[in-house]
Amino acid sequence: MARLHTENHLLDRIGWLRAAVLGANDGIVSTSSLVIGVAAAGASSSAVMLTGTAGLVAGAMSMAAGEYVSVSSQADAESADIAKEKAELATNPAFEREELTAIYQSRGLDRALAEQVADQLMAKDALKAHLRDELGLTEEMAARPLQAAWASALACGASHAAPSGSAAPTENASAEAQAACSGRAAISSVSPNSSRRCAFKASLAIN
Ligand SMILES: [Zn+2]
Repeated sequence: MARLHTENHLLDRIGWLRAAVLGANDGIVSTSSLVIGVAAAGASSSAVMLTGTAGLVAGAMSMAAGEYVSVSSQADAESADIAKEKAELATNPAFEREELTAIYQSRGLDRALAEQVADQLMAKDALKAHLRDELGLTEEMAARPLQAAWASALACGASHAAPSGSAAPTENASAEAQAACSGRAAISSVSPNSSRRCAFKASLAIN
């Protein structure tokens, strides 16, 4: 059958996108906090840079490990359910057919059509039909621990570059920081990046 049009949906990216956003957020918040804290305590600029770099490595590793473990637990739960469904289909196909029929009835089909749909879908791929319509599991949305780990680590590492990149102190750091702060304070509500660098430069100025 010819397709009417080709739609480019984005939902299958949700796994790595969620992990990347989480990683980037952690990279920005933790590095900024770390670097501001160390700079405010009067550490030298090389110590501040070292802290930022250590934060980058620790953050990326921690986010990758965290994503891997948490998404793995999701993948474990999914494969346990898949195994259970496989066993039920093998031992009690009549009950499984009735289960699927009831699902389609609850979605608005009449009994006869629901039975017909259940029969045809089960004839094509019974497991896939049950996973999708009974458990809500699809290939596109399957848990992918390694993908989540990589996305999170890379986003975390990249986001560290923002606070760390502006970490190099200049000769006139103090004046620059004060000018930047007074000018940027007004737009800080729409530009979190500016306010973050602003706070960081202010802390370098103290140093
Ligand atoms: Zn089932």
